[in-house]
Amino acid sequence: DRVNNPYEDAGVYVNPDWSANAAAEPGGEAIADQPTAVWLDRRAAIEGGSAGNSTGLREHLDNALVQAQDHENFVFQVVIYNLPGRDCAALASNGELGPDELDVYQSEFIDPIAEILGDPAYADLRIVTVIEIDSLPNLVTNVSPRATATPECDEMLANGNYVNGVSYAIDTLGDIPNVYNYIDAGHYGWIGWDDNFGASAELFAETANTGGASVDDVHGFIVNTANYGPAVEPHYDINDSVGGTSVRQSEWVDWNRYVDNQSFAQAFRTELVSQGFNSDIGMLIDTSRSGWGGPDRPTGPGPLTDVNAYVEGSRVDQRFQTGNWCNQAGAGLGERPEVAPAPGIDAYVWVKPPGESDGSSEEIPNNEGKGFDRMCDPTYEGNPRNNHNMSGALPDAPISGHWFSAQFQELLANAYPPL
Ligand code: BGC
Repeated sequence: DRVNNPYEDAGVYVNPDWSANAAAEPGGEAIADQPTAVWLDRRAAIEGGSAGNSTGLREHLDNALVQAQDHENFVFQVVIYNLPGRDCAALASNGELGPDELDVYQSEFIDPIAEILGDPAYADLRIVTVIEIDSLPNLVTNVSPRATATPECDEMLANGNYVNGVSYAIDTLGDIPNVYNYIDAGHYGWIGWDDNFGASAELFAETANTGGASVDDVHGFIVNTANYGPAVEPHYDINDSVGGTSVRQSEWVDWNRYVDNQSFAQAFRTELVSQGFNSDIGMLIDTSRSGWGGPDRPTGPGPLTDVNAYVEGSRVDQRFQTGNWCNQAGAGLGERPEVAPAPGIDAYVWVKPPGESDGSSEEIPNNEGKGFDRMCDPTYEGNPRNNHNMSGALPDAPISGHWFSAQFQELLANAYPPL
């Protein structure tokens, strides 16, 4: 039987591959024992051995059984990330499967994973699956006739393979009694606006009722996966106003209903329940890179001269725009993994392993299907999806998923809470 919050009274798996990379860095020992998720980002990652994924799924689970000996309960976190036509609004994490390869996704990716996770040897682990980052919300925000549309997202909406893939994944994995499915729900700076919020929740509900899936296959949702938005903006609130003007009218907030991921996650949870999800679903927040510490971090609210000065002086998020997602300069490690930090939130988790790149800053040929996205190029002046701002990316980055030492060092230096 599933418990309400799998993280309660539980240890969490430390990925030895990531831990070794972290420990090899100057200062990295301070965090090398933190739990981070295992990413299954292509078929070969299931068996392991290929670059960046040297440990296979079975070996990880066997390691988890050993680590579990020191704990009453134990969580194993795994990201399921290989949809057909993956990452339709960006190029850096395009995957190995073409838009129409739903059958390959099902039979060569989800089925083999389910077979391993369902092995009775692992029945005492609490297996948390993070389902398909950056997929379904793209079908709301990045499709025609919006200015943010891409042909690839239009195609994935039309062919139904994001919806079919996600519903197949939660249905198949949800049959395993000790699997806890958490679907990726973007972040506040993506679906916090009125025209995206309800529509995204509706799409999640439709997806959970497609094929053999049901809402009972969904334990919860995760926000901010591999993103940089703070869990909490401590110095200002969406209800604040300056001289009668709401912060919603500031350039930074730009009519969003939320200023941070925690308030968004709590409200989105309520919306999902109203769309038919179970009333006890829980939310996760990826805080691996949401810290924004360091010398430039504001220590209190900004001046009350006008609404923009107030927000600019208050916000800890130092990005140019909340649509920026690649290797953000100035970012730090966020809150350490923590169980039940706030109502409705099952845990703060580190899903994106800090120090692994989001994408290369220049084109780098590779055999992983990864493209070059100019949002990872520090000289790029942006596109409609980041409202034509500079990308804010660090230079000299390797392709996504590969170790990026300079970024790891910045994340340590700018950690908040500080290390
Ligand atoms: C990459 C994956 C990688 C993951 C974790 C993603 O951006 O596309 O290959 O496993 O990040 O670093």
